[in-house]
Amino acid sequence: MAENSELRFLQTDVVVAGGSGAGVTAALAAFRVGARVILVSKGKVGRSGNVVMAGGSMSIDGYSAKKILGLEADESITPEGWFDSIVKEGFYLSDQPVVEQFTSDGPTIVEEYVRWAQRAKVPFKQLKDGKWVSSGKNFALALKEGMRDAPGVEILEDTTVLDVLMRDGRPAGILALDIYRGELFVVLAKAVVLGTGGYQPFSLKNSVTDMTGDGVGIGFRAGADIADMEFLLSFPTAVAPPYLRGSILPYVLIVYCGLKGGVWPQFRDACGDLIAVPEEIMEKTAFYKGFKHIKLVCTYYWGEAIFHGRGTKNGGIFLDYSRYTREQREEAVKGYFSVQGEYYAANHYKGDDISRVMDNLRDGKGIETGLGFEYSSGGLLIDEHMRTTVPGLFAGGETGSGTFGAMRVGDGLVEMLVQGYKAGESAAAFARDAEPGAPDNESTRCCTERAYAPLRRKTGISPVLVQSRIEKACDAGFGFRRTEAGLLAALRELRRIRTEDMPHMAVSGGPRYNLEWLTALQMENLMVCVEHGVLAALERKESRGNHIRDDYPQVDHDTWTVRQIFTPTADGSVNMRKEPPRVTKVPLLRGKDENVMQFFLRPDLDYKRYQWG
Ligand SMILES: Cc1cc2nc3c(=O)[nH]c(=O)nc-3n(C[C@H](O)[C@H](O)[C@H](O)COP(=O)(O)OP(=O)(O)OC[C@H]3O[C@@H](n4cnc5c(N)ncnc54)[C@H](O)[C@@H]3O)c2cc1C
Repeated sequence: MAENSELRFLQTDVVVAGGSGAGVTAALAAFRVGARVILVSKGKVGRSGNVVMAGGSMSIDGYSAKKILGLEADESITPEGWFDSIVKEGFYLSDQPVVEQFTSDGPTIVEEYVRWAQRAKVPFKQLKDGKWVSSGKNFALALKEGMRDAPGVEILEDTTVLDVLMRDGRPAGILALDIYRGELFVVLAKAVVLGTGGYQPFSLKNSVTDMTGDGVGIGFRAGADIADMEFLLSFPTAVAPPYLRGSILPYVLIVYCGLKGGVWPQFRDACGDLIAVPEEIMEKTAFYKGFKHIKLVCTYYWGEAIFHGRGTKNGGIFLDYSRYTREQREEAVKGYFSVQGEYYAANHYKGDDISRVMDNLRDGKGIETGLGFEYSSGGLLIDEHMRTTVPGLFAGGETGSGTFGAMRVGDGLVEMLVQGYKAGESAAAFARDAEPGAPDNESTRCCTERAYAPLRRKTGISPVLVQSRIEKACDAGFGFRRTEAGLLAALRELRRIRTEDMPHMAVSGGPRYNLEWLTALQMENLMVCVEHGVLAALERKESRGNHIRDDYPQVDHDTWTVRQIFTPTADGSVNMRKEPPRVTKVPLLRGKDENVMQFFLRPDLDYKRYQWG
């Protein structure tokens, strides 16, 4: 194991962490303005990150679709309206300058992305009004194609960034691990961009295993503030049959059997009793139009039933189509396959046999479905230039925070592109004026020591066990319904894991391709995310968007239209502050709503035009 003096050093202007949308666009943007760039990615570019899971739509506003992309679109769906709907439907917690950057820069980069898809010959099916649907694989392959536009960028795949190395409080580069060779090395850089995606700490996973909040943990250790950590988006995810556990098939079925076949499920609990959703809510949330609010409607009503003991033993409920005739259900199944066939290869589901689920649908039997987690709204505190609170450190995509407030009603895919690109531009501009220099010896020594520690320990606790304990604690107290008692219990257990288990994490084998070692390193990051997530959820004594408190159901605009921000401290103590989101156009609300669903019944809000998919 190399000591400081033996570490290999590479040098560049901008180093980018992440090989998905945020990372690729950041590298491209920095390259285009003449910066030397190294992109370091844990997974392969165009084959990693949650982008491969998106199954999948993205959209821009109709006006821009027509004016910038020359598409057939309704011009009255404007960037201003898009902005308005993101802020309002995100429960007024978005940072409005960040949303402005999203809506104003979004169409241009989406246009470029669509061209990459055309060049790569992967189908992005274009719908009207600036919407596209495709598979996650296609969304990812288009990024790989985009990377070709930056031929001078050095790409290091299967390499994970472990820490930002500092000099006088500013980034001087990163420490990375070449996973296959088991070698630590340093990339010296004048600016660092973190685009490593979000975090997902639960045992039911519909996301890729990389989602350990690395960028958030890395940035926080480097001194950057984090915000909105309590907001995690959950949505319909298969819990049975076992081989489909974690698939988002149920969500896709709800949307496409509904839109294409005109059949929409009722929801039933484990005993077969109806989980009623008021028709008024279905209408106002545009459920029958396939809008993103479907996710919150399901989370709210199913979550309530499951939390109060009416769920199945797998933790789900049943989608029930029995009120339709067999012919209607058959048509809906055909409709579903007709959409999927447009962008999935034939036999796409060869490995995942969905025939049983489809038979259940045709036969009018229940489809067992639970709630998995897709997206984390929280992350590094960024501004509209993607600057974190540490000069020279930038972040974009799911690693940042502030775009979608308390509920992600816009597209993570657009966010990754638009913020990654801006982060790359900002980092290159910063690097142009910055002096190069080596990191402080102490910074490199500390980070290297921390990385090697689990490998040097001969006996101790397996990091895999630590991960499953974190997941268990989060499943029990930090999921889709929260209470004071549950959150306190989760916090106690997480702190116990951090202080008693994690210092004893030990891995077997040597440094080469040691995934147990990688897990140990990732757990440090995941712990930053979950501990602050639970703390923020505990503190927020109201419900808002995806944060649903069983004991505080009201949405309390008077007290709680604030972002909760954590600043790292030298001694590890908690430093939390509350700040109202920055406002540019949409004034914040006053008053209270009875619960997160009643919020949607506010007469001044029109949810029917934006946020499809
Ligand atoms: C099931 C599912 C369905 C979804 N559907 C949609 C959809 O239909 N529409 C939509 O808009 N959004 C959707 N999303 C969300 C969307 O996929 C994400 O918001 C988006 O992919 C985030 O992009 P990103 O570049 O920030 O991160 P990711 O796409 O998650 O990529 C992270 C990258 O960072 C790398 N990485 C991680 N850690 C490190 C490290 N330490 N060092 C170096 N590299 C690292 C990873 O290997 C990867 O390359 C979905 C998500 C899920 C889970």
